[in-house]
Amino acid sequence: MKLTVLGNNGPYPAAGSACSGYLLQSETANVLIDCGSGVLSNMQKIIRLDELDAVILTHLHNDHMSDMCVLKYAIQLRRIRGLYDKLLRVYAPAEPAEEYSRLDVQDAFELEAIGDDKQLAIGDMKFSFRLMKHPIPDYAVSAECAGKRLVYSGDTAWADDLISFAKGADLLLLDAGFLEKDWSESAPHMTAAQCGTAAAMAGAKKLLLTHFWPDYDLKDLVEEAARKFPNVGAALIMKEYEV
Ligand SMILES: [Zn+2]
Ligand SMILES: [Zn+2]
Repeated sequence: MKLTVLGNNGPYPAAGSACSGYLLQSETANVLIDCGSGVLSNMQKIIRLDELDAVILTHLHNDHMSDMCVLKYAIQLRRIRGLYDKLLRVYAPAEPAEEYSRLDVQDAFELEAIGDDKQLAIGDMKFSFRLMKHPIPDYAVSAECAGKRLVYSGDTAWADDLISFAKGADLLLLDAGFLEKDWSESAPHMTAAQCGTAAAMAGAKKLLLTHFWPDYDLKDLVEEAARKFPNVGAALIMKEYEV
């Protein structure tokens, strides 16, 4: 699989940047995981809208779903013009209900809820999910193809379930919303150091940090994580990573 980072900021984009969005491509499918602001624009530098097979949303915070509100327009209007002849499959947690209902757009999306027991096959990729710890339900996503596995946390505070879910991942993409100096017990995101610890405990092969607070210097985050897990980098916008 090939992972391209389309957005790496949270909870709002830095100048010229974009919020959470990751394009995962295999031989047979293109899947977008999270769709924050700026992601739809960046995605079209790589694939056309009609080449996108499905969207998976880890959770329904706006920095992970706001571009769904314009993706809906794109599909509705392209359908009317005869330029798009299907509905886009969208998978997301069913809570909060009010946000989920905004995705229930019958002339654009084919919406389905995800949960711990959900398994999906999209092309040759197999997806599974695990509930994490965040103010609203967030599901970590595992994507498997050709014997390789990517695990992405979405947004989460430290969660023991992340370790078991991520066991042996070839690439682990984790929410490093905080440097240790700014973190408190009630923080809804991990520190870069916690990401490093999680990667080490899970026995992951490589760690990518993401969900960057716009004021942070990425070097500081990578250095903090590298004290716990050396094979770590920052997820960089429009950069491709082989899984
Ligand atoms: Zn977020
Ligand atoms: Zn969030």
